[in-house]
Amino acid sequence: MSCYDLHSHSWVSDGTLSPTELVHRAAAGGVGVLALTDHDDTAGCAEARQAAVECGLTLLPGVEVSVTWQAMTVHIVGLGVDPAAAELEAGLARLREFRDWRAHEIGRRLAERGIDGAYEGAAVLTRGRIISRTHFAHYLVSRGCGKDVREVFRHYLRRGKPGHVPGQWASLEEAVGWIRAAGGVAVVAHPARYELTASKLRRLLGEFIECGGEGMEIVSGSHSPDDVQTMARHARTLGLLASVGSDFHGPENPWVELGRLAPLPEGLTPVWQRWEAALGAA
Ligand code: AMP
Ligand code: MN
Ligand code: MN
Ligand code: MN
Repeated sequence: MSCYDLHSHSWVSDGTLSPTELVHRAAAGGVGVLALTDHDDTAGCAEARQAAVECGLTLLPGVEVSVTWQAMTVHIVGLGVDPAAAELEAGLARLREFRDWRAHEIGRRLAERGIDGAYEGAAVLTRGRIISRTHFAHYLVSRGCGKDVREVFRHYLRRGKPGHVPGQWASLEEAVGWIRAAGGVAVVAHPARYELTASKLRRLLGEFIECGGEGMEIVSGSHSPDDVQTMARHARTLGLLASVGSDFHGPENPWVELGRLAPLPEGLTPVWQRWEAALGAA
């Protein structure tokens, strides 16, 4: 059986490797099937697919869609999407417009706190069409506003902090609809990271299923072993397909590596059963 890693980022969004470098690193690490899931953009999939052909890896075009649900931000991964699908591309273009507006607003808010030039500083770090809080974080670290990305997130970029701007992302229904219209499977990304009560998580997953969502990440770079077991129970109860993804953003975060993931717990249906026939994997 192939090694699957179904959540990763390139510099098209807030990762630090090019799509080609990402694919080569995944192949070298033993990944057989990789999904490139940049935030709100599929622009890296063509390059990644080309690189995948060169190194004998199967590339699944994907995306990680930003969603606002109950005034919080939730991420929905789309796996096996057609990057050229019109409805998905139009939806993502709208989210990128909001990102641009929000980035200027983050810059204004940080300037009020005496940190000027943050928008320009973050913008020069982008390599694709999206500007992310991660770019602001790298800029703030370079200015000495904190010792690392985590610390500047904690002090400046998280909810309730000076540089935080509430999201106006897609609705759950839109995100799942765009993914399905593009031929993809919708998966709730890193569900344990939202720190929801069990009943609120059940509500999120229930609404997601009503919208046509089919899977949830069980093993994730941001899940603890306990999280994996808890999420596995939810997936079994609700009959959701189980996904596995590192959420790799670059080699400078050595605690998350491509393909270095725990196995799925027993009693789950892996999301890749949806493509096994097409991929020729047994
Ligand atoms: P955005 O979609 O622009 O709001 O940025 C969200 C991204 O910021 C996530 O995908 C993570 O890559 C990164 N991020 C969020 N919170 C943290 C944190 N506490 N430490 C490091 N990176 C974070
Ligand atoms: Mn990210
Ligand atoms: Mn995410
Ligand atoms: Mn991600």
